[in-house]
Amino acid sequence: MTLPVFPETYIDLLPEVRAFLGEELKLYIGGRWVPALSGATFETVDPSTGRVLARVPSAQAEDVDAAVRAARQTFDSGAWHLKLTASERGRLIWRLADLMEAHAPILAQLDALDNGKPVKKAQTVDVPLSADHFRYYAGWTTKIEGATIPVSTPGMFNYTVREPIGVCGLIVPWNYPLLMAAWKIAPALAAGNCIILKPAEQTPLSALYLARLFEEAGFPPGVFNVLTGYGETAGAALVEHPGVDKIGFTGSASVARTIIRNSASTLKRVSLELGGKSPNIIFADADLEQAVVGATWASFGNNGQSCTAGSRLYIERRVFDRVVEGIADEVAKIRVGMGMQAEQPDLGPVVSGDQLNTVMGYIQDGYASGAHSVIGGKRLGGALADGYFIEPTVFVNVQDSLKIAREEIFGPVVCAMPFDDADEVLRRANETPFGLAAGLWTRDLATAHRFAAKLRAGTIWINTWGDTDAASPFGGYKQSGHGREMGKEAIDLYSEVKSVWLRAD
Ligand code: NAP
Ligand code: MG
Repeated sequence: MTLPVFPETYIDLLPEVRAFLGEELKLYIGGRWVPALSGATFETVDPSTGRVLARVPSAQAEDVDAAVRAARQTFDSGAWHLKLTASERGRLIWRLADLMEAHAPILAQLDALDNGKPVKKAQTVDVPLSADHFRYYAGWTTKIEGATIPVSTPGMFNYTVREPIGVCGLIVPWNYPLLMAAWKIAPALAAGNCIILKPAEQTPLSALYLARLFEEAGFPPGVFNVLTGYGETAGAALVEHPGVDKIGFTGSASVARTIIRNSASTLKRVSLELGGKSPNIIFADADLEQAVVGATWASFGNNGQSCTAGSRLYIERRVFDRVVEGIADEVAKIRVGMGMQAEQPDLGPVVSGDQLNTVMGYIQDGYASGAHSVIGGKRLGGALADGYFIEPTVFVNVQDSLKIAREEIFGPVVCAMPFDDADEVLRRANETPFGLAAGLWTRDLATAHRFAAKLRAGTIWINTWGDTDAASPFGGYKQSGHGREMGKEAIDLYSEVKSVWLRAD
């Protein structure tokens, strides 16, 4: 359902947001606000309306170089990881989380404007989860330990310490602008690194605002730097720079391949959180009401612009029609509208005109290859015609071999496919180059455990979908990535282990 739109039904911009958008926005390098040296800028657009929100600096190689020098200098001086105690670092990270919470309405409006997501979702999900992430890792600063190793050489004492890697370039996507940045920044900071953040070109605003909060919190200059810019220029220069010790990347597999190639000359550390085409399996014995609602939001949460979208939906054949009908009924209740409408929608637009074309291309391809939609399938017009709105779309009559069933669409499209038995669906679920997440709905404990063991994915959800927690590791098998974010694993991802030998007799 589309919500009616009248100009008077928009939520007012907060004065702080209005002022921020009216300013000349700058890069944050070494604790100072500076324009791109070339003076280049680019526009960021509100996908709900197609209107330009602001111009932001377009960082080029020379700006990347300046940021790397600033971060390097701070790192080498030890101002962050050596001169402050672990407890002082933790306190600063915690203070940042407090400031994020205090500025939550501002951060939420910036992400809602830039990404299109409903501002209420940004304020109740994205911002609190981001602040929580910083709090979790604030606690880690005092708990990063090495080990004493019982080596076999008599008289020899051997122990390990965990040290920061150095300067980390963090490159993030646009689907959860603040949260994806928080997932990387918080553990990298806790482990003692200095950071250069490159937000997505579609959603640079909350990253720049976050830099203000770093400043207000009192972090030493150079610990946190933000470069807005394009992937092919700013992102690529970060990846190639010999002064960057590690790249933490979230995004597409194709850009990940470029990053691996471009990091080869310096052999810097690279960790990757990539896409998925996650299988979501509904067995006939499941609580079907729960499964219907769960599968609907697994597919359409954040408009399907979620790396863990349950976009391959396998349903046991004898309940297939019933479940698909139930999902179509749920989808019919979903309200689509602008991120800043007073009457808040469930879903906003997709993030950009390019993304709209990509998703509509997949939908056309689905029809052309014989799939049909039980609901959705069209771009929304009327009052939403200036934005990038697509109806949530459920396809049936889909073969596993179709493009829409194999490739990540990253939009509001799900393929529902029947299956007859457990071995068959397990095989089909694992027949994918991806392995980020997988899930199933069943009341049978043995099936639940068997599938948890046999599904090849980094996260398995059973009778639920989409849960994450700062404390629980997250990442991909196969082409869904290298390394794990969150939990203790992310401390490992952002630190080096040193082994120390001492002749003690
Ligand atoms: P993308 O095109 O790969 O872009 C991601 C980031 O990489 C952006 O900041 C982008 O800059 C930058 N980039 C582009 N080319 C680059 C290059 N040559 N060198 C260095 N950086 C470069 O991905 P997206 O379309 O924004 O995001 C969608 C993808 O992210 C999906 O595949 C999704 O599954 C994945 N994702 C994964 C997770 C996870 O945790 N596993 C979470 C969210 C999203 P520009 O903005 O200028 O292009
Ligand atoms: Mg934008």
